Amino acid sequence: MKIALLSRNQNLYSTRRIVEAAEQRGHQISVLDPLRCYMNINAKEPEIHIRGKRLEPFDAIIPRIGASITFYGTAVLRQFEMMGTYPLNESVAISRSRDKLRSLQLLSRKGIGLPITGFASKPSDIPDLIEMVGGAPLVIKLLEGTQGIGVVLAETRKAAESVIEAFMGLNANIMVQEYIKEAGGADIRCFVLGDRVIAAMKRQAQPGEFRSNLHRGGSATLVKLSPAERATAVKAAKTMGLNVAGVDLLRSDNGPLVMEVNSSPGLEGIEQATGKDIASEIIAFIEKNAKPHKTRTKGK
Ligand code: ADP
Ligand code: GLU
Repeated sequence: MKIALLSRNQNLYSTRRIVEAAEQRGHQISVLDPLRCYMNINAKEPEIHIRGKRLEPFDAIIPRIGASITFYGTAVLRQFEMMGTYPLNESVAISRSRDKLRSLQLLSRKGIGLPITGFASKPSDIPDLIEMVGGAPLVIKLLEGTQGIGVVLAETRKAAESVIEAFMGLNANIMVQEYIKEAGGADIRCFVLGDRVIAAMKRQAQPGEFRSNLHRGGSATLVKLSPAERATAVKAAKTMGLNVAGVDLLRSDNGPLVMEVNSSPGLEGIEQATGKDIASEIIAFIEKNAKPHKTRTKGK
């Protein structure tokens, strides 16, 4: 097959591994920087150009679109979809997953366990908002944050009020969440492919830290999932419409709670923690499922 990999950087671990796996399995794969793709959306035949040349059609495309370029990246992906290229994850599903409130609303509609979450816009609503999520301690999150940056644990109501007020004063969008203390500074990353969890790891925060992100010094180990955890992760990915997803769970006294569904989950931490060849499984999934003109965004 002829496969495109949308990625800003050829040297990233995930990019390198996917290229390696595709070539090993006999495919032709090209890494394309989404920001170098430009398009004429008025053309009768949708086209994509790079450095003055029109791209030949691809059978499948693997989007790895960073959060900071979601808007342009999903537009490029949509153009490929309009040309009939099979996307591993569809542009609509990626856009959906990048909006944290929308994601939580969709997941809650399907009855998936979530930490109690509130959001508000006006400082005068802060006291009631804090009440709604069960009071302090609570977690405050910047909606635009990634890698644990902009995630704050407020131990007291007073601290919570001042942090929320400060964020609102900066016009930042935030959500407020019940603190799942019993998770013990750990979360579970489930790597979902199709209707299966193909790998899972537990990430444990450093002592004195509640955020388990590897970027914040967390450490990853292999973990065995319960059937409920597997089912929750698969259902969350399906609800978002993602074939590939990194579903982050917290282990709570009330069962697994979904924190986030990531549409471009990294391979490095999870391949290392589990010893699994996830890149090859992704390519095998594409071999099995890629059909032209099968997306919901064909532009028709
Ligand atoms: P990001 O998307 O920036 O990684 P997360 O929402 O995943 O932000 O939060 C970062 C980390 O903080 C999580 O991996 C988890 O360890 C911890 N955390 C987040 N929300 C909660 C919560 N409600 N209760 C307990 N721990 C949490
Ligand atoms: N199909 C819509 C979308 O593009 C709706 C999904 C939803 O928000 O329920 O995301």
